[in-house]
Amino acid sequence: MDPIKFRHWLEQIYATEAGEISCSECLDLLAVYVDLELDGAGEESRLLPVKKHIYQCKVCREEYELLRELALSDRQGGLPRDETG
Ligand SMILES: [Zn+2]
Repeated sequence: MDPIKFRHWLEQIYATEAGEISCSECLDLLAVYVDLELDGAGEESRLLPVKKHIYQCKVCREEYELLRELALSDRQGGLPRDETG
């Protein structure tokens, strides 16, 4: 095989192996990612592709920011006082 082609081929493999994910995969994982990130576990290796993707993809980043806002207000607001029980 032509060495240049071979290299190109290898790069393609590495690009996918390094955890490139599609938008739909990213969106599937976003909720988990946000949750774990807020728990301080956002560096978990299975979530790194998500992190990488939202860094590169504006659409997913916006979705991520929305989810994060929601999750944050959820946590901060917590349950309102429930004294009716
Ligand atoms: Zn995306």
